Amino acid sequence: MKLFRIAIPAVIVPAILLTLPGCNTNSSSSRKSALWEKELGAVLNTAESPDEAHKELNLKVDLIAKGSYGRRIFREMTPQYITIHSTQNYTGDAYAHAKALKRGALRGGVIGYLCWHFTVQDDAVIQHIPTDERGEHADFDGPGNRYSIGIEMCEHNGNNQLKTMERTAKLAANLMYHHKIPIENIRAHYHWPREGYSTPNKNCPHFLMENGRPGDTWRWFVGRINRHHQRLIAYDEAVRQQQQQEEEERRRNSIVLHFWDRVTHWIRVS
Ligand SMILES: [Zn+2]
Repeated sequence: MKLFRIAIPAVIVPAILLTLPGCNTNSSSSRKSALWEKELGAVLNTAESPDEAHKELNLKVDLIAKGSYGRRIFREMTPQYITIHSTQNYTGDAYAHAKALKRGALRGGVIGYLCWHFTVQDDAVIQHIPTDERGEHADFDGPGNRYSIGIEMCEHNGNNQLKTMERTAKLAANLMYHHKIPIENIRAHYHWPREGYSTPNKNCPHFLMENGRPGDTWRWFVGRINRHHQRLIAYDEAVRQQQQQEEEERRRNSIVLHFWDRVTHWIRVS
């Protein structure tokens, strides 16, 4: 990361801090994310192998049949964003949503059937469509549907909401890593306005919003995704450094061997 060193006069600093939004630590939103952070514990700052992180997701692939319902038209997509939703369904778990999508029970969207890429509950992730196919989960023919991977978080009774959020954060970090999606392209459904609606920006995922819009709690959640992603990047960097070190060692050894060959040759001929 690039470090910028700019001298700011000391008198200006308190004034800036006083005017910064979201600095009120007494707000209920800050309390909520602080409590959640405490319950989950800080994201480790050690490197994590992307393969290991992928295994931890407990991902089950249960796709809607190609050519049917939400996949009745093949629409290729190069994912550039990740959109986070919550189901607001208090009875259906991830498996129930997978079944509903596979039998075309959820109607709507541009092609008549809703579909999205992943549904997450506290102990598992289910994939419904490949990440290189477009879904119908955000904003009809808008960029949310055309360019983003849609993730729904479960809210059924008995489901652990914190564990669901954390599994979602890890899934999003994994998808960022594999599709090279930057952290600023993590979006709440809220960010994709729905044309023709009286409230175009949906309060979704509602438990991460403040007064129906992204605030401190949303920023906290994106921060956790970012830290999980940094663990995967750190692993790649560690592997790269190790390879460089091994290469350097091989080079040094070959110089020594080459030198020794020359010495023994010189002894033989002299
Ligand atoms: Zn939504």
